[in-house]
Amino acid sequence: MYLVVFTLVEDYLTYWIHRFLHTKWGYEKIHHVHHEKTAPSGFAAVYSHGAELSLLAVTIFAGPAIMPCHVTTHWLWFAIRLMEASDAHCGYNFPFSLAGLIPFVVGAEFHDYHHYAGGKTRTNFGSVFTYCDYIYGTNKSYLLHKRSLAKLKTKQAEQNMKGSSGIED
Ligand SMILES: [Zn+2]
Ligand SMILES: [Zn+2]
Repeated sequence: MYLVVFTLVEDYLTYWIHRFLHTKWGYEKIHHVHHEKTAPSGFAAVYSHGAELSLLAVTIFAGPAIMPCHVTTHWLWFAIRLMEASDAHCGYNFPFSLAGLIPFVVGAEFHDYHHYAGGKTRTNFGSVFTYCDYIYGTNKSYLLHKRSLAKLKTKQAEQNMKGSSGIED
């Protein structure tokens, strides 16, 4: 129960902080450091300006401040948050990743697109869940990107089918 509340609080606060960090001032002064990594690795999860890390610390401590818990739960929460952030930045969708099991969880593909789109992006700000991006309409270019990729895959599959049937003839 604690972990669910902590995650929801952290996710919602981070969504808005991340949006603030993509304003002209926020990006130029703080967030550009994190976006030096256009194709991130797990280490990029914590590769950020000191001010950004402090803001993210506030989001992580906000849950336990609202709902005090045992120190073991604190440590478990920190470990889960770090693992989730590394997973979102690793650039690979692991089969055991939560994003593969729960459709509204941020995964490597979702956050990778945020880095790929660059500093001026207005898309994919979520840290754990994707629902804020759905509600506030900041996932439109990502959905468009996914649709065009799916079309491209279908086209390629059709061409491969034609190619292979040509060889058989
Ligand atoms: Zn960003
Ligand atoms: Zn990132």
